[in-house]
Amino acid sequence: MPPRSLQARLLLTFVTLMVLGLGGVIFLGGLRLTAQDMARSERDLALQAQIIANALREPVGFGGEIEHSGGRSLDTLINSYAQGIAGRVTLVDTHLNVEFSSDKTVPIHVTESHAELIAARDGSSQPAIRWDEWRKEERLFVAAPVSDDHGQSLGFVQLSIPTAPIYAVSLQTWLSFLLIGGGVLLVTIIASTIIARQIAVPVQHLTTTSEQIAAGRLDERVVPAGPNEIRRLGIAFNQMAERVQEMIAQQREFVDNAAHELRSPLTSIRLRIEMLQTRGKANAAITERYLNQMEHEIGYLQRLVDHLLALASVESNTQTPPKAQLDVTHILRGIADDMRDVAEQAGLTLQADVPMRLPTVQANPEQMNILFRNLVDNAIKYSPQGGTITIAAQALAREIEIRVSDTGIGIPPEALPHIFERFYRVDPAHSRTQGGAGLGLSLVRAIVEAQGGRIEAQSQVQAGSVFIIHLPIA
Ligand code: ADP
Repeated sequence: MPPRSLQARLLLTFVTLMVLGLGGVIFLGGLRLTAQDMARSERDLALQAQIIANALREPVGFGGEIEHSGGRSLDTLINSYAQGIAGRVTLVDTHLNVEFSSDKTVPIHVTESHAELIAARDGSSQPAIRWDEWRKEERLFVAAPVSDDHGQSLGFVQLSIPTAPIYAVSLQTWLSFLLIGGGVLLVTIIASTIIARQIAVPVQHLTTTSEQIAAGRLDERVVPAGPNEIRRLGIAFNQMAERVQEMIAQQREFVDNAAHELRSPLTSIRLRIEMLQTRGKANAAITERYLNQMEHEIGYLQRLVDHLLALASVESNTQTPPKAQLDVTHILRGIADDMRDVAEQAGLTLQADVPMRLPTVQANPEQMNILFRNLVDNAIKYSPQGGTITIAAQALAREIEIRVSDTGIGIPPEALPHIFERFYRVDPAHSRTQGGAGLGLSLVRAIVEAQGGRIEAQSQVQAGSVFIIHLPIA
């Protein structure tokens, strides 16, 4: 079964590849060098055989037979040649019978019909490696004919040396190969361990951190490390964790705020019910007043819940109603007509400066209505009597620009950056009596952004405010 950890797998793969590759090269190279060593020894010995055969031509004599009584001179000569090659020199007659050998373990008159002698008799040269029964060891044999001046064969010279020293040289080669191979393998193991660690350690860290985050420790982050890809994964992971943490914090804050907003009107309603139960029965005027106050609180709760639901619907993509090609002119004029009465009741003038035709935008009609209704509603709420509210629209190159402006109390510069935040109110006490929970503008911005547009506010205290919306032309 393969190892389960990434680090072990990488290491195993590197080492296996290295052993196969390097081992193959060493094995084949070693075999080749061994063969070359042996071939060289064979060539050298064959050459020696030739030389000795030539040198022995005179002492061996004439008449086709080796002169046995060649005497001491032949004996000494052969022995000195044997010493020269550090091996054995044997003289064989034309019938392949041993006539003389530098090695006294070789019996005389024994027939040596071995491959190298047969080949020499047939006029070729063929070295042979075999077990030598006299010396009880493996030896390399070569043979060369001893011929007279007319090319007549007088016999053969057989040379042999033990193969062990040749193999000893090859063994040296093998050992140095293995030493180098072992060194390379060691370096490979160290290098691949480092590389594997560089990959595996950051991945392990990512895993542990993910597990910790999953267990609720949202502050945990990784230190981006390792190769580029893994480092980027670490950075992206941290960004994701940061975002998730932010979103959870926002959700908590949202729930806190929502609960808080719900609590005050509910408390107020409960108190009034208690009052009605104790004192209301006897006093119609008190009953009337409390019922009106309760209606006001319920109206506030109603708007709050409507806003919360609308926000949830805009922010969850799955529940977003389908968009359509929309004529904004139509919507803006409709809102101006609908809200003119309310504005006039508050002593305000509502005017629409909207061209007859505007390019269409891709938007959801219901949400667009909520958007502009909220803006005009705010303009009415925050403008003193005698003011003017203007809804204006114009087409730009790729966008439609819509401005909802008023001549109201304005927004202080320090509050302006926050007005689109949920539950943010410039003056909470004032807003509550006006019925706002600080959700209207965050809903407005969520809707604009869901349509691919953007919104900004400009304001001057005691002069008025303007909300500018840009929607992309479909
Ligand atoms: P609310 O429902 O309380 O009005 P919004 O989110 O609609 O909440 O507005 C946030 C705050 O921005 C309000 O509390 C108010 O102080 C300020 N604001 C919004 N519109 C206007 C405006 N037209 N003029 C002055 N202040 C405004």
